[in-house]
Amino acid sequence: MSIKIAIVGNPNSGKTTLFNALTGSNQFVGNWPGVTVEKKEGKIKGEKDVVLTDLPGIYSLSPYTPEEVIARNYLLDEKPDAIINIIDGTNIERNLYLTTQILELGIPVVIAVNLMDAVEKKGDKIDIEQLGKTLGCKVVYISALKETGIDELIDTTVEVAKSSTKSELSYKFSESVENSISQAEEALGDKVSDAHRRFFAIKLLEKDEKVLAALGKVDGIDEIINELEVKFEDDVESIIANERYTYITSVLPNFVKKNKKTKKTITEKIDSVVTNRIAALPIFIAVMFLVYYIAVTTVGTWVTDWTNDGLFGDGFHLFGSDVWVPGVPVLVEKLLDALNCVDWLKSLVLDGIVAGVGAVLGFVPQMLVLFLMLGFLESCGYMARVAFIMDRIFRKFGLSGKSFIPMLVGVGCGVPGIMASRTIENDRDRKITIITTTFIPCGAKLPIIALVASALFGGAWWLAPVAYFIGIAAVIVSGIILKKTKLFAGDPSPFVMELPEYHMPTVGNLLRGMWERGWSFIKKAGTVILLSTIFIWAGSCFGMIDGKFGFSLDMDLNNSVLGIIGNAVKVIFKPLGFGNATAVIATVMGLVAKEEVVAVLGILDFAGMTKLAAFAFMIFNLLCAPCFAAMGAIKREMNNPKWFWFAIGYQCLFAYIIALIVYQIVGLFIGEVAFGVGTVVGFVLLAFMLFMLFRPQPKVKKAVNN
Ligand code: GDP
Ligand code: MG
Repeated sequence: MSIKIAIVGNPNSGKTTLFNALTGSNQFVGNWPGVTVEKKEGKIKGEKDVVLTDLPGIYSLSPYTPEEVIARNYLLDEKPDAIINIIDGTNIERNLYLTTQILELGIPVVIAVNLMDAVEKKGDKIDIEQLGKTLGCKVVYISALKETGIDELIDTTVEVAKSSTKSELSYKFSESVENSISQAEEALGDKVSDAHRRFFAIKLLEKDEKVLAALGKVDGIDEIINELEVKFEDDVESIIANERYTYITSVLPNFVKKNKKTKKTITEKIDSVVTNRIAALPIFIAVMFLVYYIAVTTVGTWVTDWTNDGLFGDGFHLFGSDVWVPGVPVLVEKLLDALNCVDWLKSLVLDGIVAGVGAVLGFVPQMLVLFLMLGFLESCGYMARVAFIMDRIFRKFGLSGKSFIPMLVGVGCGVPGIMASRTIENDRDRKITIITTTFIPCGAKLPIIALVASALFGGAWWLAPVAYFIGIAAVIVSGIILKKTKLFAGDPSPFVMELPEYHMPTVGNLLRGMWERGWSFIKKAGTVILLSTIFIWAGSCFGMIDGKFGFSLDMDLNNSVLGIIGNAVKVIFKPLGFGNATAVIATVMGLVAKEEVVAVLGILDFAGMTKLAAFAFMIFNLLCAPCFAAMGAIKREMNNPKWFWFAIGYQCLFAYIIALIVYQIVGLFIGEVAFGVGTVVGFVLLAFMLFMLFRPQPKVKKAVNN
């Protein structure tokens, strides 16, 4: 009979490295049934009939991600003879959280403390003898990368598997929790085997849906849960998670001796400032403002002026010399004239395509500079700190800092941002993140901000960073609102992330990143935007002339097809201040791609909006439903039409209300210049008020008759 061994551990603990070291080329790689999670099996080198499975990386045995479900189904159904629980020795505290759950499965466990090379380098000491005694199982010290300790690990595991020495659970939770677990174990009766009893009892208490579905009704369990929740004023899942962490922290000093360094590393020195409780947020704000200041004023202004007025305008002097280079529109016009082009085609090319696409392309230089700087912040390690800082803030409002990662990705483009929400295992947290990610301005929304800034705010550089903070405020306010509904109630899942060491990114990587983002922007200008500029142009030239449908190059916008549609819809946006046909068309076309907003305004002109109205216009366009591509991503990730429409509806309604507040109320109280800052302050106050009003109360279920 062959022996089955499974490798279980956190992501990045070295499972695959160990698996490869143990099996060499005797591997079979496939997929787990029904999901795109990789399944790897192999025979151990030099051991007959020992089959090893590399399970997906997990932080817990809860049922929230496909990885978790796969791992625990495998462990429960396939009944491996032993588990190798690989843990990252440099992160022992976090890794042991999973270990405490694995030990409850009633399957023989060997703990492999991995990365011993790294641990030694740090000068930490881990006493595996003590660790084994404390947890009641065998422990081996290995380095999967350097292939040390591997043989001993195999021998120990095979031995344990053969003797099927169950790891006796050597620890207990607090008395009242243990009591409830015992009661639940009893209530289970003969529904489960003795080996798995504790695991199922705990899962029952945690109201694990998959387990509930598998076991059917278990009498008396609700009373046990209720009693526990009333006693602890918390839900069982949190109570038990808390028990695990308390236990781990209490025993950790028994076997881990951290090297007390006298000298801090550079990373630690920087972090003590950058992630400082008080200074962190102001520093982050300052950094963002600086980035935009540089992108928009210093580098941005002249490059953008050059592209807009020179390249896509009349022309420019080559390197300040007397050589005059005509702009693209001038050249194109000359070319068309030379070809004796008919008027309508000339208008299509010049007023439609060149104006629309040119308006979008005009922002490319500014965005490249911005992408470069954001790319630098990301790859040097600072953005990881920002997620960490945001977690502290988000958590207060019931959001997880994990949500910040998708938002960070969303700064480039909302589509990968929304897709990045997959890493959030908690369903509620993930849905909230999907709904709110696109509140953070993506690359395509930047031109909208820049356009409003240059057309109406004298090129104010602060408008862009303000837009980001409005985005963050929108996320927080949404968190507060959505968390109040029954759909999203509950605590955010814990956020653990490793902060990488700071390092200098390579110039090549930075440039490549910048180019990738910039190029996808340019590509869009050449495809989707190009096509729709033709539609917009046509829509503005076809229309009613003297009561008859016709075509004219001097069509009054109000009589054109676009104008008629825009005028019909504009009442909706009247209260927001931008109820004119152009702005409405721009907004609607923004659903195709956000760059369209700029393209439309390039063709149709800003129709004399006031600053305040333009600001409301910008806010609405930043917060409302994203472009179709991003909506597609939301649809895919929600995987449910009801949720998809909820997300889109929420975004539009939210954008509408905020733009309404800005235009109607904020505009009343403060002068035009200050309302950018005013909106942010207003937002923060609103958030604070909502927070105080609906402060999360400890969830206590009322005991019956009590
Ligand atoms: P998995 O996600 O658990 O499959 O982890 P991997 O096997 O992919 O390893 C994650 C990272 O840790 C890789 O970069 C490995 O090279 C590295 N790694 C794995 N084991 C060791 C080790 O023993 N020492 C060191 N220094 N690095 C390791
Ligand atoms: Mg792996």
